[in-house]
Amino acid sequence: MIDLSIVIPLYNEEESLPELFDWIQRVATKNSYSYEVIFVNDGSTDRSWEVISALCHKHPEAKGIKFRRNYGKSPALHSGFERAKGRVVITMDADLQDSPEEIPELYRMITEQGLDLVSGWKQKRFDPLSKTLPTKLFNATARKVSGIKLNDFNCGLKAYRLDVVKNIEVYGDMHRYIPYLAKNAGFKNIGEKVVQHQARKYGVTKFGLSRFVNGYLDLITLWFFSRFGKKPMHFFGLAGSLMFFVGLVSVIILGAYKLYTLFNGIAHPLITNQPYFYLALTSMLLGTQLFLAGFLGELITRNSSERNIYKIEEEI
Ligand code: UDP
Ligand code: MG
Repeated sequence: MIDLSIVIPLYNEEESLPELFDWIQRVATKNSYSYEVIFVNDGSTDRSWEVISALCHKHPEAKGIKFRRNYGKSPALHSGFERAKGRVVITMDADLQDSPEEIPELYRMITEQGLDLVSGWKQKRFDPLSKTLPTKLFNATARKVSGIKLNDFNCGLKAYRLDVVKNIEVYGDMHRYIPYLAKNAGFKNIGEKVVQHQARKYGVTKFGLSRFVNGYLDLITLWFFSRFGKKPMHFFGLAGSLMFFVGLVSVIILGAYKLYTLFNGIAHPLITNQPYFYLALTSMLLGTQLFLAGFLGELITRNSSERNIYKIEEEI
């Protein structure tokens, strides 16, 4: 087994690649690691693939995967993870914002401190304020929801024990939450290391402000999945029953009061002229709908191939 797999997702980063590979090579040689560098070309429209091909022909350590179109950073990481063979897997961005000098320490933390995952922390960032400020908010929410005490969830520079990357599925835009995915998969030893960060040297950033909106939505999805993904009825059934019950009780009270006023000859408006009636009705309807959503959810999980997914760590 080789020591290191370095997975690099990239989209239009032709200028940075040779420099980055050289640097990684220098660090790896100095520390006498056996290693592979897996470049995942995520549908670049520039000359990135030609650059990668040239590197692969020259160096046996360089490997390239080319997507037919741009799928996103998460699928790129996932396909790199599928192929990784090193004892420790390191991901880094292709834009030279992450420094390969961090590799030895990350490697040591995984192999010697027994950590499953070490996430980089760009304590001193070289990004515009429009990005660093929302990021702070984003990380605070992610900490709260996931219960993992990390300062920087979305750092591109991370190190993993091989087991971790083979047991998680990074899809959609979930690369922002890999520590959370790992935790949900049962990997609890998650560490953090302050890492160097540089301003982008070439090219432009590939993510706009939409990253924050989508990031929050994904966080809600992940939270929901980790709690109710395999038992949707526990969520929808409870919410539905509560709503239905509130509606039912209100309707009974309304009806009983109407009857009371009728028999005692007290003047009272029609039930349908009262706002409470419509609130109660809506509540009962919504409650039934939620309940049905729960049943549908259960039917879907029953038919899904992942209904009984568990990963075994060891067997004697
Ligand atoms: N990236 C990718 N596919 C995409 C968008 C980005 O592989 O659809 C890569 C990109 O080339 C870079 C890394 O993901 O290597 C991080 O992207 P970027 O530097 O634009 O993000 P930022 O540093 O601005 O957060
Ligand atoms: Mg970057």
